[in-house]
Amino acid sequence: MKKVINTIFLWASTLSSLLPITAYASGVVYDKALYQQVIKQTPQAVQLYKNLLSLPNDTHNQEDIKKLSSWLIHAFNQRGFESHTLDMSGSPLVYAERINPNAKKTVLVYLQADGQPVDPKAWQQPNPYQAVLKKQQNDGRWQVVPWSYLTQSMDPDLRIFARSAADSKGPIAQFLVALDLIQQQGPLNYNLKVIMDTEEEIGSPNLPAAIIRHKQKLKADMLLIFDGPPHYSNQPTVTLGARGIATVQLTTYGPYKPQHSGHYGNYAPNPALHLSQILGSMKSQDGRVLIPNFYEGSTISADLRELLSKVPDDEQQLKQKLGFSVHDKVGNTLQESIQFPSLNIRGLQSGWVEQQARTIVPDKAIAEIDIRLVKESNPQRLISLIRNHIESLGYYVIDRVPTHKERMAHPYIVTMKSKPVYGAFRSEPNSLAGKMAIQGLTKFYGERPIVLRSGGGSIPIAPIIDTLKIPAAIVPSVNADNNQHSPNENLRVGNFIEGIAIIASVLNQPL
Ligand SMILES: [Zn+2]
Repeated sequence: MKKVINTIFLWASTLSSLLPITAYASGVVYDKALYQQVIKQTPQAVQLYKNLLSLPNDTHNQEDIKKLSSWLIHAFNQRGFESHTLDMSGSPLVYAERINPNAKKTVLVYLQADGQPVDPKAWQQPNPYQAVLKKQQNDGRWQVVPWSYLTQSMDPDLRIFARSAADSKGPIAQFLVALDLIQQQGPLNYNLKVIMDTEEEIGSPNLPAAIIRHKQKLKADMLLIFDGPPHYSNQPTVTLGARGIATVQLTTYGPYKPQHSGHYGNYAPNPALHLSQILGSMKSQDGRVLIPNFYEGSTISADLRELLSKVPDDEQQLKQKLGFSVHDKVGNTLQESIQFPSLNIRGLQSGWVEQQARTIVPDKAIAEIDIRLVKESNPQRLISLIRNHIESLGYYVIDRVPTHKERMAHPYIVTMKSKPVYGAFRSEPNSLAGKMAIQGLTKFYGERPIVLRSGGGSIPIAPIIDTLKIPAAIVPSVNADNNQHSPNENLRVGNFIEGIAIIASVLNQPL
């Protein structure tokens, strides 16, 4: 025991002398006592994190998810929670609650437990579920270093590589360690309920029904989501919304089979041309949707413009990195642009290209479209607008493959399939969730974090918020450049440590 304590002490004192007490990008940490506490706890935190990373969590593998769920239930039970899986279709949510009989408020926390599949050959380590510690070399390559580096030459730029290191076992490990830290100061004055999603990577198809079914159990005053990356500058961030998503597939038809373009060009109608004309009529060259009323309800007031301008985006640098010179003209800036619904062509297919190019009139053309929704968007309304627009161009629009009779009766046919996936959400900075998250980060860093009115991406949170009618805030605790979903996913050690402190500081706000 003594040896263990000595080791931890050595760890803590080594770290505090080597790790500069600075925020990962923004400035000086204000709550040094909390930071020191986290540093002391870091050896155990890394061990817990490595154990969690060693559990495969491919969302498609039920056996993996079962073992992972048992681990989570055990981890929460050990921390005074009552924990079990919730009865529902699909892969069940893991639920944990710690009730304080004197509490007046309840905080619901969302964590994501499942992960993307792995292709071990693409990883620069033997097993994506066996975490490795790496240091970046001068030539930019990442090289495996012994775990003892964390005690010897510890620097915050070391990274831990494994599947779900950032998305999203990092936040789970950080949350568990944060619970241990705040427990040392006595019980929280609110009830804490936690749901852990095991189907996030497939769009949480069973989550909305499960939330409705367990509405009473999940009753809370606010939702905190510890997931996702911060602003790309890696500065502390609170995100108060996310866009929703709906998908549309359009198919146009030519002859039944591809036909010789010499024999039938100028005679057989070309589906690629028709599809291009449809798509071209929907948007201007500079990216604005031309379908009337598509942006209805979304405006940028002077106040909102002022608020959005506080986000420190370096758009010149961003354009250099992304490789274009002029942005679409939906908003004046990146932040303004994501306050509107989008209509994005995400894939196109007709005939063959490059080496396979053939002299044919194709049989059909397909476009895949996604619509990112904002809170003001009604997905069914937007889908109807698209449908009406295509009809106004003279097309016969159906939701299935046309019959022979229909082909003979209608010169221009489009099959349109659509699906609202989930809605958008947005909470106010002065809502309970907004205040708890923003104050928690402000207290730890001594300055207000970047507050994003909405992230551009989509997370399956809207069903929870709509059913429970509570505000929500997303508190990212991992680095932005973490390779999530790709091979060689990682978490920066400095972010791992500060993420624990961020979560502890947020949870420590009395209610
Ligand atoms: Zn993901």
